[in-house]
Amino acid sequence: MSRREAVIVCHCGIDGCLRCIETKSFANAIKLFPTNDKVNEANNAYLASTGNPVARILSENNPHTGSKEKGKTLQHVLNLSTGCRVMLRKNIAVQFGLVNSSIGTLHSIIYAPGSVPPSLPLYILVHFPNYTGPCLIDYLFPIVPTTENWTKSGTTFNRKQLPVSLAHAVTGHKSQGLTLPKVVVDIGEKEMSAGITYVELSRVPKLTDLMIVGYFTKQRLEDIAKMKDHRDKLAFIQKYWPRR
Ligand SMILES: [Zn+2]
Repeated sequence: MSRREAVIVCHCGIDGCLRCIETKSFANAIKLFPTNDKVNEANNAYLASTGNPVARILSENNPHTGSKEKGKTLQHVLNLSTGCRVMLRKNIAVQFGLVNSSIGTLHSIIYAPGSVPPSLPLYILVHFPNYTGPCLIDYLFPIVPTTENWTKSGTTFNRKQLPVSLAHAVTGHKSQGLTLPKVVVDIGEKEMSAGITYVELSRVPKLTDLMIVGYFTKQRLEDIAKMKDHRDKLAFIQKYWPRR
């Protein structure tokens, strides 16, 4: 991939620098990071930058010590503010395009009278651009808290929380299967799983909608291309979806 194809980030600030202008055009693009820590850092920095009030919503856990556990998909702490981008974490209406990984914009958080954060709201209203089913108001879809169970060391934990996560930034792993209009990718220092860099760099149809941050060596890409899992995946793709 040459420099003239994918966009390389620039903050030089020189008047008229085309790379700075391109960099700014990625301000609202989804950021892909290799680790959950980097994703959380970027999402929280984004919330802080908007200046909007943030609702810190805590999950309900049974037993309550479950709040210290990682859980499966539902987060214990969920920071949300209206206008933020969210990702759905479960299939809700597959036939209408509301599936695990659907991305939408949070319109509002609805609480029962007398209830406030950090309690769970009754529901949130989210605009999902890819939702094709019926809707009551303004193309908004209500998402209600949901529960999940998991067992650890013989104890079964039960957690209730909204099935969404912030999606200003997501892990490369969670970006699998998404087609994004624009994306900013940090491939990190090492492959977190086989083929993950390929997944991250192929989320956009056009290379001009891809921005890469951070540095990596050409050797890194060559090593990725040589990985057996990666070669097997490519052979599979070429066999069943040959280029036309
Ligand atoms: Zn510049």
